[in-house]
Amino acid sequence: MEQHLQHPVFKALAGIADAHHIEAYIIGGYVRDIFLNRPSKDIDIVVLGNGIEFAELAGKHLKSKVAVFKNFGTAMLKYQDLEIEFVGARKESYRSDSRKPIVENGTIEDDQLRRDFTINALAISLNKASYGQLVDPFNGITDLNNKLIRTPLEPELTFSDDPLRMMRAIRFASQLNFSIDEQALNAIKKQKERISIVSKERITDELNKIILSNVPSIGFKYLFDTGLLHIIFPQMANLYGVDIINGKGHKDNFYHTLQVLDNICETTQDLWLRWAAILHDIAKPATKRFEEGHGWTFHGHEDKGARMVPKIFAQLKLPLNEKMKFVQKLVQLHLRPIVLAQEVVTDSAVRRLLFDAGEDIESLMLLCNADVTTKNEYKVKKYRNNFELVKQKLKDVEERDKIRNWQPPISGNDIMEIFGLSAGKEVGLLKNAIREAILEGEITNTYDNALQFMLAKAKEFGLQPIKR
Ligand code: ATP
Repeated sequence: MEQHLQHPVFKALAGIADAHHIEAYIIGGYVRDIFLNRPSKDIDIVVLGNGIEFAELAGKHLKSKVAVFKNFGTAMLKYQDLEIEFVGARKESYRSDSRKPIVENGTIEDDQLRRDFTINALAISLNKASYGQLVDPFNGITDLNNKLIRTPLEPELTFSDDPLRMMRAIRFASQLNFSIDEQALNAIKKQKERISIVSKERITDELNKIILSNVPSIGFKYLFDTGLLHIIFPQMANLYGVDIINGKGHKDNFYHTLQVLDNICETTQDLWLRWAAILHDIAKPATKRFEEGHGWTFHGHEDKGARMVPKIFAQLKLPLNEKMKFVQKLVQLHLRPIVLAQEVVTDSAVRRLLFDAGEDIESLMLLCNADVTTKNEYKVKKYRNNFELVKQKLKDVEERDKIRNWQPPISGNDIMEIFGLSAGKEVGLLKNAIREAILEGEITNTYDNALQFMLAKAKEFGLQPIKR
């Protein structure tokens, strides 16, 4: 253990603890992460006594400013790249209507008992006589080795006291690729309704951490199996299930979505692209039809899905800004490259895709690649090859025509000036005609060509330029 406590800050804290006859421990995530080989910069220190006073002594010694949070009885200081938080050991009890406990002073074991999971309840002593000794009354190390999320207290009580812990259990399972202990899992199933006392922001914060883990399907399967998903994000839970008519079924869109999500996580860390994967088929349940002689269809699920995005973002308190627009755009366009990959790829179809996707074309291609989840090796190969063709074509067309981030060579203002028009239908018609001609490849994407084309078109409408 000593080799993990080499940082001079630990020796300094130990010196202060001994000089003032205070017991001090490193506790929680930092200790857990030592055993998981995940270097961390956040250190929690628990002292038997007043955490704020100890932090102030440490601040003086380390010549660092201390931020005091009196209401919480905690204090924080930054030392080099470390963030160190101090608190006095406490014992907690809960009332049923709040996540906020009643707090009194306690022993180190009381403090470990109030921690959410055994792997988060490990402590290391900082006092000279026991420096570096692990304090593990709830077998956290065994659980780390067995990759198990378990609660120090009776699990139903743990989750009922602070229901956010249900999300945290699933988040740690997903981040660490751990299992949730069976009793704890049953307790979550029983206490799931208690999630309603947790703010949406905190729930979504945990959800985003699940989404940012390497294999988010681990977390989502737990969310689904416990019933939490049905409460916090029912539209996603709704993707589950297969209907069969005349012996014909469709794929289960919940598990398909999880597969797409896991796939895209191999190629991107971007939270919003991962959200696009989660939402790409979100409107399949709402658009599902069985057509005689044809089978199951989901016509228009991309349009309806895109329309559902703002409501889902608002409901989950996700930002209603350009991130949402990005997700919406990808949901809207997610079928387009696949359609291209199935057909003969024409230049104009590629130009239209580039025009619609703009700078998000690479993200869209990643999403489409991730969307290929068929078990049929032949089909996978075929799609992937066709995607490569589409990509090559995208590159060629982009180099030639510069459609991405396209600004029309003639703006609405230009049109109004040239023909002496005020804003109105004709301006829109002319703008549209120019755009279509460029996308169809009738003219190149340059001012002069567009001007000639527009003047000819305007003549058809009986318009005369007042200025050239
Ligand atoms: P990460 O930094 O990955 O979120 P962490 O374990 O450091 O992991 P924090 O939220 O910083 O997470 O919490 C620090 C410690 O405080 C935890 O290790 C745990 O011991 C305790 N803790 C945090 N939240 C709770 C909670 N809701 N209930 C009980 N203990 C908690």
